[in-house]
Amino acid sequence: MKLHNYINGQLTPPQSGNYLDNYDPAIGAVYSQIPDSDHRDVDQAVQSAKAAFPAWSLMPAAERSRILVRVADIILERLDELALAESIDNGKPLSLAKAVDIPRANQNFHFFATAILHWASEAHIMEDKVINYTIRQPIGVVGCISPWNLPLYLFSWKIAPALASGNCVVAKPSEVTPMTAYLLSKICIDAGLPAGVLNIVHGLGGKTGQAIVEHPEIKAISFTGGTATGERIAAVAAPKFKKLSLELGGKNPSIIFADCEYDKMLTTTVRSSFANQGQICLCSSRIFVERSIYERFKTDFVEKVSKLKIGDPLEAVNVGAVVSKDHQQKILSYIELAKEEGGTVLTGGYAVNPEGRCANGYFVAPTVIEGLDYNCRTNQEEIFGPVVTITPFDSEEEALTMANSVRYGLASVIWTQNINRAARMAQQLQSGIVWTNCWLLRDLRTPFGGVKDSGVGREGGFYALNFFTEPKNVCIEIS
Ligand code: NDP
Repeated sequence: MKLHNYINGQLTPPQSGNYLDNYDPAIGAVYSQIPDSDHRDVDQAVQSAKAAFPAWSLMPAAERSRILVRVADIILERLDELALAESIDNGKPLSLAKAVDIPRANQNFHFFATAILHWASEAHIMEDKVINYTIRQPIGVVGCISPWNLPLYLFSWKIAPALASGNCVVAKPSEVTPMTAYLLSKICIDAGLPAGVLNIVHGLGGKTGQAIVEHPEIKAISFTGGTATGERIAAVAAPKFKKLSLELGGKNPSIIFADCEYDKMLTTTVRSSFANQGQICLCSSRIFVERSIYERFKTDFVEKVSKLKIGDPLEAVNVGAVVSKDHQQKILSYIELAKEEGGTVLTGGYAVNPEGRCANGYFVAPTVIEGLDYNCRTNQEEIFGPVVTITPFDSEEEALTMANSVRYGLASVIWTQNINRAARMAQQLQSGIVWTNCWLLRDLRTPFGGVKDSGVGREGGFYALNFFTEPKNVCIEIS
């Protein structure tokens, strides 16, 4: 099966005529081919976005909203098809794609399509003689680049606010997981999205992605991906004065106090560690446990983790394949590093070859490691797979020191029944998000993003609409 770019409202082959192989990671075999697009395809996409911009940006918000709600509705109507595509493309359990990825893509479109109907800007009155008011104007053509871990979920999280606020978009999904973005092209055609408003260009990060970032007529870039890629993008975009939103890596702590609601904490911590094979930027990968319950937690946690069912993502499993062979090798090499650094593997620690059709797939057993210093590489570097470390602590201060010791600052989790302690910790944790007694509860209105090397800027709600628009102050003196 050959995928196509979506440019100027049409499914279009790449100008080079070249294609890249796309793998099904659960079986370890090529199952489709995607356009190997270059700067010519990106330029064609930019020109079509530019041509579509005047009509789209001037269209009344209610009409833009209606079209985007139609996109949302069709996503839901095709939930089964999209979820199956996501599971095959990424290796994630089909049940997860059905319950989380695709419903959330629907919500992203629906949320931003309707948010623009409630969006207002400020006025500043100076002593009744002068009125300042702010108008927020779309930027023009913007670039959206997203990763492979939550493909349609994160792709739509960027595209929906960009379009809703009146921009035209040139977007690139990860070359490793292009399928649902391709299906979204067809959905946009069926929903009647005007030609050129959204353009989807497939290809390699260093080629197609780089061409988007470099293009002089793309004035803003919203990027989610690794911190090293974010650095490269910032270096290209900064001298061109492009607006940048960067959602980058994480190495998130989960801090468990003895007074927590134990059973809920245990179940949620298994999920926050291993959901989507640990390949969610918000997963906790460093678990700090108050010493008085450390041994109990260790026994119960390891027991639960070792019972997780791993295998064919299309069957009833808890853990599917990781996204690629390269990624599997990276994860396994970090497990070896953890052993070299003095860690003890309590469960997992190896590649899995399930019986049957997935025998050649890329699977890694959920892995729990203890006995590591909080400063070692295993505890400092992002692994982005089903690997967590557990470490005891004796005081709030010690837990905070360890939690804040990394270069990242995306999301933290606290487990305690003590509201004062929860509030104290939340103030001092260096992260953009702090979940208390829960994980991954997401209200789409809230600011989403990280501090330190986890990113720059915030997405979500009006934060995203503000990013994709330029405020202009209009000052009128009343005579
Ligand atoms: P990458 O940084 O490798 O890639 C992300 C996207 O950028 C892909 O579409 C990629 O294309 C593209 N890309 C790569 N190089 C360039 C370049 N030079 N210029 C422009 N675009 C480029 O990340 P991964 O896909 O490996 O995703 C995993 C990372 O994403 C993890 O670090 C994770 O923490 C982070 N992440 C952060 C989130 C957040 O909200 N903070 C959420 C989810 C993930 P291609 O794939 O084709 O190479």
